[in-house]
Amino acid sequence: MPIRLLSSEVASQIAAGEVIERPASVVKELLENSLDAGARSITITIEEAGKKLIEVADDGSGIPSAELELAVTRHATSKLVHSDDLFSISTLGFRGEALASIAAVARVAIASRAVGKPHAWRIEVEGGTIGAVAPAALAAGTTVTIEELYFNTPARRKFLRTEATEWAHCDEAFRRIALAHPEVAFSLTHNGRAQVRVQAGGRRSRVEALLGDAFVLHAAAVDADAGDVRMSGLAVRPAYAAEGPLTQYIFVNGRFVRDRVLSHALREAYRDILHHDRQPAYALWLTLDPRRVDVNVHPQKTEVRFRDSGAIHQFVRHAVERALAANAAEQPAVSAAERLGIAAAQMPPLVATDNLGASGQQRQDANHSNPFTAQRGLMLAAGEPAAFYRQLFGERTAVARTGPARSGRLPSRVCRNGACPPRPTRQSG
Ligand code: ADP
Ligand code: MG
Repeated sequence: MPIRLLSSEVASQIAAGEVIERPASVVKELLENSLDAGARSITITIEEAGKKLIEVADDGSGIPSAELELAVTRHATSKLVHSDDLFSISTLGFRGEALASIAAVARVAIASRAVGKPHAWRIEVEGGTIGAVAPAALAAGTTVTIEELYFNTPARRKFLRTEATEWAHCDEAFRRIALAHPEVAFSLTHNGRAQVRVQAGGRRSRVEALLGDAFVLHAAAVDADAGDVRMSGLAVRPAYAAEGPLTQYIFVNGRFVRDRVLSHALREAYRDILHHDRQPAYALWLTLDPRRVDVNVHPQKTEVRFRDSGAIHQFVRHAVERALAANAAEQPAVSAAERLGIAAAQMPPLVATDNLGASGQQRQDANHSNPFTAQRGLMLAAGEPAAFYRQLFGERTAVARTGPARSGRLPSRVCRNGACPPRPTRQSG
């Protein structure tokens, strides 16, 4: 076959595939846009796991009517001006391709009222064809409505998984962003049912709402800084680390990332104190000068490259090691219980649960079945007496008193060389 140029329609559908892999990618991109626009409150409505509808309404700065068409044009962004800006990115978006990509594979409507304007304007795009800008009714901010994702790319649509799986991806995308930005209120509805509603607040309350009280109760506070690099958040103490899939969240300058340097640093921090069949669990925020990290590594921007990865690795590892060691020496369980105003003796036993259903009471805010979060973390089981809890607290307290003072390692109560104290039975409800 001779070499031919792809039609612009096919080319943009291919490009869209890199950014919009599945409905969850739309959720991520739209939420990032709302955050970049300075939204304080974001409402997300999803139907059929995003295959039918994804709508994100924010109260951010809005898009001027004259720019609505540009917003859905590829490589048009308000966030970068010079190529130098690429090396100091402080916004979540910057590539100017999300809305254009979504518009290439879905029906898109954007209504927006720019700050200070008398009313809102609206634009519709279908399969890449941009309609006229028309007046609309909207009190403030921007509402982006995405319908019938992949309606014009049936092959892509066929690759979507079951509604439960796609929903789990959407929920996880939401969770990453809502955790990263506790200063913003979020509400999430799926198929007409409220899933999550969280007020603006601090990190601790956001983690509690989205990852459960037990996560907070059994975590050590991490707080360290070295010049312009700062890390804070929560790292679950080894005795409470889960066996199942991961609850591992690291945010770099407000962005969820999957980074080998960071996850290796975390594994190292837990290495000598965590039984080999357990996984570290954490929610950590790393902030640093944007010039020290390259986020333009991949279209989806979950990968980053640190300019000085060795120093970052050391910093993160030590920050978490110190937090876990200090926490172990402080009889943490008792103080954690006190913090919540609960007497330790009244507390039900801890159960590593493999089913989110069991955690419903702990997670009223986030009461939904998500295979990602379902099997992670620890939940408080209802009912049984506090013997196991007391045993844990008693032992830990004793070890904390007699154990090595702040040696940089946890005392050896927790699973060493495969020898773990008895664990409660797994709960399957
Ligand atoms: P990027 O975020 O990389 O700039 P997008 O395609 O996601 O690219 O968005 C294009 C432009 O549309 C943004 O740069 C921004 O100016 C505008 N925009 C998109 N969503 C919103 C929103 N919710 N509020 C305000 N402006 C928005
Ligand atoms: Mg964007």
